[in-house]
Amino acid sequence: MSDLAPALIRVRGLFHTYEPGAGEPVPALRGVDLDVRRGECVALIGGNGSGKSTLAKHLNALLLPTAGEVIVDGLDTRDRDAVWAVRQRVGMIFEHPDDQLIAAVVEEDVAFGCENLGLPPAEIRSRVDEALRIVGLEALRRRPPHLLSGGQKQRVAIAGVLAMRPRCLVLDEATSMLDPAGQREVMETVLRLRRDEGLALVLITHSMEEAALADRVVVLAGGTVALSGTPAEVFARDDALRDLRLEAPPIVALARGLAAAGVALPAGLLTAPQLADAVAAAYRRGRGEA
Ligand code: ADP
Ligand code: MG
Repeated sequence: MSDLAPALIRVRGLFHTYEPGAGEPVPALRGVDLDVRRGECVALIGGNGSGKSTLAKHLNALLLPTAGEVIVDGLDTRDRDAVWAVRQRVGMIFEHPDDQLIAAVVEEDVAFGCENLGLPPAEIRSRVDEALRIVGLEALRRRPPHLLSGGQKQRVAIAGVLAMRPRCLVLDEATSMLDPAGQREVMETVLRLRRDEGLALVLITHSMEEAALADRVVVLAGGTVALSGTPAEVFARDDALRDLRLEAPPIVALARGLAAAGVALPAGLLTAPQLADAVAAAYRRGRGEA
């Protein structure tokens, strides 16, 4: 995709100040610019309170700018008439699976968003069927959601969003309450959606391994963008990350340690398979086999 193609989501000069009833105003975002292109996966990382969730809620008009603008697929989130169109295009998945499931059985839950959009019942049924198939939960469609595992619950929530035919999924720490199997289940589901359906993803995560899977990593600190670039670029910024109280994924640290010990490795290794291949190649070269 050309860099000149209009971004799916364009955030410009975004400020958000919370005005709690009691107490001082809280400036949570202080001039954020962000583009999310169609089909792109952007990881949003940063310490607690850096503004990640606040930014996420602006991407589907759950919050409106104190100043600046958020444009989603050409729609300004401040335009009252565009709110449902924005929410249909950008689906949110939150941290606590139980908070987003409300119906008595899975398929009713998946239908809920479409009902809010006012779609005809036959259309809703076909979209629910399709969404359940995509997330692999057809067999559980009559189950009460509270009997499902955490990973399955998040897949139900994803199906409910998918049924609205979004262009982008925003996952706000959607894997952090899950066990490793549930985390893998959710990540595999959303990465497949991106590959097969061309969905853009905004992954808010504390997991640097998850962030390493993105096309681009954006680091928030104190309500501003502190660093951004490809995962390899961002995770190479050891000192900057340390100042932000973050660290590169273990594989990146391991690759750096091996390189420092004299193993000839290419730059930008991010995942275990990449590192394994590079070490194997270095080993074969060392034995004169390659
Ligand atoms: P993150 O998701 O990165 O942890 P948040 O966006 O939740 O950060 O919070 C950013 C800042 O805004 C923090 O200082 C937080 O305390 C404050 N904040 C978040 N939500 C509210 C709210 N509803 N009212 C007042 N302050 C809030
Ligand atoms: Mg948060």
